[in-house]
Amino acid sequence: SKPRPLALDTLPTRLLIGGDWRDGRGGEDIDVLDPSTEAVVASVANASVEDGIAAVDAAAAAAKDWAATAPRRRAEILRRAFELMTERADFLAAVISTENGKALSDAKGEVAYAAEFFRWYAEEAVRLAGDLGPSPSGAYNIMVQHEPIGIALLITPWNFPAAMATRKIAPALAAGCTCILKPATETPLTALAVAEILGQAGVPAGVVNVVTTRSTGKVMGAVLRDPRVRKLSFTGSTEVGRVLLREASHQVISCSMELGGNAPFLVFEDADLEAALDGAMLAKMRNGGEACTAANRFYVHEALYDRFADAFAARMAALTVDDGVLPETQCGPLVNPAAVERIDDLVQDAVARGAKVLTGGHRLNRTGYFYAPTVLRDVPPEARMMQEEIFGPIAPLASFSDEEAAIAAANATEYGLISYLYTGNLRRGLRLSSRLQSGMVGLNRGLVSDPAAPFGGMKASGIGREGGHHGIMEYIETKYTAVSW
Ligand code: ADP
Repeated sequence: SKPRPLALDTLPTRLLIGGDWRDGRGGEDIDVLDPSTEAVVASVANASVEDGIAAVDAAAAAAKDWAATAPRRRAEILRRAFELMTERADFLAAVISTENGKALSDAKGEVAYAAEFFRWYAEEAVRLAGDLGPSPSGAYNIMVQHEPIGIALLITPWNFPAAMATRKIAPALAAGCTCILKPATETPLTALAVAEILGQAGVPAGVVNVVTTRSTGKVMGAVLRDPRVRKLSFTGSTEVGRVLLREASHQVISCSMELGGNAPFLVFEDADLEAALDGAMLAKMRNGGEACTAANRFYVHEALYDRFADAFAARMAALTVDDGVLPETQCGPLVNPAAVERIDDLVQDAVARGAKVLTGGHRLNRTGYFYAPTVLRDVPPEARMMQEEIFGPIAPLASFSDEEAAIAAANATEYGLISYLYTGNLRRGLRLSSRLQSGMVGLNRGLVSDPAAPFGGMKASGIGREGGHHGIMEYIETKYTAVSW
């Protein structure tokens, strides 16, 4: 067996409520598995509905003081959290890699990205100016102020266990909100480690609470029915997002939703082939394909199609697939056996409909939830993988001859998170970018995520934006006062 470099017994595993680490009252602890070895690496507390409400009590008790804490002070605490996360980057990356399975290099990239949200929102915390000006009639003044929206429930997925947590916690805290974080059941350890760091950075008790639970629907449903909760920020599947939007309707809670994607990756005949291949590898294989931004469908102009397909397949076949925590690994396992099953079904479906396997197309015969990096060509539009989010190391390719047809195919999905577009003609790129129905476009770029930029989707990919200046506004209530003097 391979060396496991991590001392996981130093990590917190209990609920964090009001600054205390508490056992859950929801029954037996929840086991956390390493997808590379299938071994249990830790067990975390299992919260009950009462624990969920206790977290709301704690967030409510801390709310007034935190909202009244000077923005500069909040900024300095967030900045300290950035520094502590950066100092512990290697350790955090190992935690991520162990519970999620992703390659250590991806995990290191995630820690750097995650920590940046603390730095960015440390800088935003002191820039929440309002407005004051005369009404058009001149009869009075229009004063606009920004207040913290109130207690925020933050529900995060397993694919970026650090970054999805910090992308929500940082703007919530910067805006002056207290919060309850509910990490994914598969990856609670990273979230708990981040919460511990926040405490060490000076975040007061009750400002950040963490609830892990097996009865997610029940506990989160109860929290969302508590009138003290005013904000929901969710990242996960569109299916669960729809459920949560209904849950949030009872108390008319403000919702930010980062949901599924089905990103097209378009390569035009005037593209730089090498740059497009580099971008394709990044857009497809960052996080082993387990990203909502992952390129899901590749549409390549027929003039480049054969060359692109062969070179892409060669690059995918050359990846080192192994245990996530090993430094040489480029592609780790999928998160769980159900993910392997689902992806294999998608591949079988595409092959049955006439797609040709250029590389991969099968599970790996070893311990762990591994699937070979796969490239399929001539995948017909009716194949399920062209319509559904793949969330794994599978790249389906199709060719096109006509720009209009390519844009129509790109937009023919209920999703609208991100599109990728490669062309040597920037004027054409900008023209087509505006026609792509997605919240984000990578124009000659295979990676767009940046804490300084507004991340988010159109259509069934979501509501609202995270990151940039937009991100903090999701945690703000706008107060208008008409003033006569
Ligand atoms: P993924 O496929 O990325 O796991 P999910 O949408 O299933 O996406 O899960 C994202 C997050 O939502 C996780 O933290 C999960 O535990 C949580 N979740 C799943 N079902 C519910 C639900 N009914 N109510 C609240 N949260 C849920």
